[in-house]
Amino acid sequence: MWVLILMILLVVYLVVLALILQNTNQLLRTLSREEEIIERHEDIEKLNKLRDKGILTRQEHERILNSVRENFREEEFRKDEAVLSELLSKGLIEEGEYNDKLKLLDDMRDKYKEISPEEMKELQKRAGHIAVTCFAEKGPDHWLCVCGTENRLHVRNCIKCYKNREYILANCTRQEVLEELSRD
Ligand SMILES: [Zn+2]
Repeated sequence: MWVLILMILLVVYLVVLALILQNTNQLLRTLSREEEIIERHEDIEKLNKLRDKGILTRQEHERILNSVRENFREEEFRKDEAVLSELLSKGLIEEGEYNDKLKLLDDMRDKYKEISPEEMKELQKRAGHIAVTCFAEKGPDHWLCVCGTENRLHVRNCIKCYKNREYILANCTRQEVLEELSRD
């Protein structure tokens, strides 16, 4: 009897421990991402200052800003790739899964590259943060956020960046952005 109770207590303890570890990990990941985004914002602020002082022309400012954003995304993609290879090397995912995820990442990269600098600028303005990777899309059972996360359709706020589904789908699809640009 006592052995059984002890076993149950041990299992409960392990489950709670696993949950705590998982949460801490997620929190740490979110925090480091936020920090990165803030850092990039500082880069942009510095660029904005140079433009405001007249040291950079508008065109120069725009060009450099686009490069900063592109490098940022490319770095992100490379980091994501590195995480996947780490998971594979630790045996946490199988070769097939690894290839599928890599393919997903490549698709995301292609989607990102399809966006012209002009479209990106408008999308960025609407999305309000730097980590934009694609136009928003509504699928039959999911919606794709501008941060590249696929959310189930019933999810109201993106599980990664917390952007609101209604706002994102109403303002950040390719169609919306192209319409805005053709109005100018
Ligand atoms: Zn998102």
